[in-house]
Amino acid sequence: LTLLGIESSCDDTAAAVVRVGPQGAEILSSVVEGQMDLHRDFGGVVPEIAARAHAEKLDICVRAALDQAALGLGNLDAVAVTAGPGLIGGVLSGVMCAKGIAAGASLPLIGVNHLAGHALTPRLTDDVAFPYLMLLVSGGHCQFLLVRGAQDFTRLGGTIDDAPGEAFDKTARLLGLPQPGGPSVEAAAKSGNPKAHRFPRPLLDRDGCDMSFSGLKTAILRARDARVADAGGLTVQDQADFAASFQAAITDVLTEKTRRALTLYLQEAPAAPLLAVAGGVAANGAIRTGLELLCAHMGVAFSAPPLRLCTDNAAMIAYAGAALMADGVRHDMTLAARPRWPLDQNRPAMLGSGK
Ligand code: ATP
Ligand code: FE
Repeated sequence: LTLLGIESSCDDTAAAVVRVGPQGAEILSSVVEGQMDLHRDFGGVVPEIAARAHAEKLDICVRAALDQAALGLGNLDAVAVTAGPGLIGGVLSGVMCAKGIAAGASLPLIGVNHLAGHALTPRLTDDVAFPYLMLLVSGGHCQFLLVRGAQDFTRLGGTIDDAPGEAFDKTARLLGLPQPGGPSVEAAAKSGNPKAHRFPRPLLDRDGCDMSFSGLKTAILRARDARVADAGGLTVQDQADFAASFQAAITDVLTEKTRRALTLYLQEAPAAPLLAVAGGVAANGAIRTGLELLCAHMGVAFSAPPLRLCTDNAAMIAYAGAALMADGVRHDMTLAARPRWPLDQNRPAMLGSGK
């Protein structure tokens, strides 16, 4: 099966061609066009600007993906597109584009949940068996998913407010470090003292796998203002100490909550237990080391797809589309774009608290 994938749910426009056969999946092309420059002055993604940019770039990305794969529409077996969740204008642009191609080339259309795309990525690159535990941790998401099949996800918990990537970006802004905040905070933290400030570790005293990160930015704001009032500004060492202390707090919360999620997951008695991570924050060295040590301790394998597949891309959408197709899923011109679309909305909570 050869699928064209289309992704436009946030601030990246992406198209990819993926071939899936008995030997596994092969990415024939994967094109990602970012919009960072368009939104930089606004301090966040502006939905209207994003939707317009997607509408302009989708066509170019699809052409580039087909060219790089050296294929035409006639060589495709289906078109897969992110149908949600995300910024509705962007999702609509992608869905309309996919419908146009599917109708014009008489191809089946498959609507894919963006989160399912992330959650199935480990199987795109590696021979990973169900069930596995996925920690999706990015600029917009933070959740634990127990993945039992291409359409079988159970959410074990997640953030009740901000995503960690957002917290990294806001912290960078508060400290005067460049955007995106993840890489710049991580770099600054290298020369900082993680014990210089004791920032809160919210919800660690509470059962379950839910997390909260919004209190952290308030704590940093207060500590920064106190430091500025004392010393008249932040030195490079101050920045480093704030960054290191912030990163330590995030790492502590993520590793402890992952421990609980793994405990729940291991109740399933998987033959080859595995934790997979996805999302831009999974690139963070301190967080990754924390998770790797935890996994080694609990006898669980650790898998992190290459970064370009961890962040938003269309190869994961094409791959998830192929998995749905194998399950007999087909959509048509009535496929709707959905701003909200929880992965496990039809499943009852069946698991305990993971304490
Ligand atoms: P989503 O995929 O949830 O729609 P997104 O596109 O913002 O949201 P990603 O592209 O997966 O998310 O990741 C971007 C986020 O990852 C940013 O918030 C960025 O600061 C963060 N990030 C990138 N590198 C690092 C790093 N080394 N450490 C921590 N955070 C990082
Ligand atoms: Fe994403």
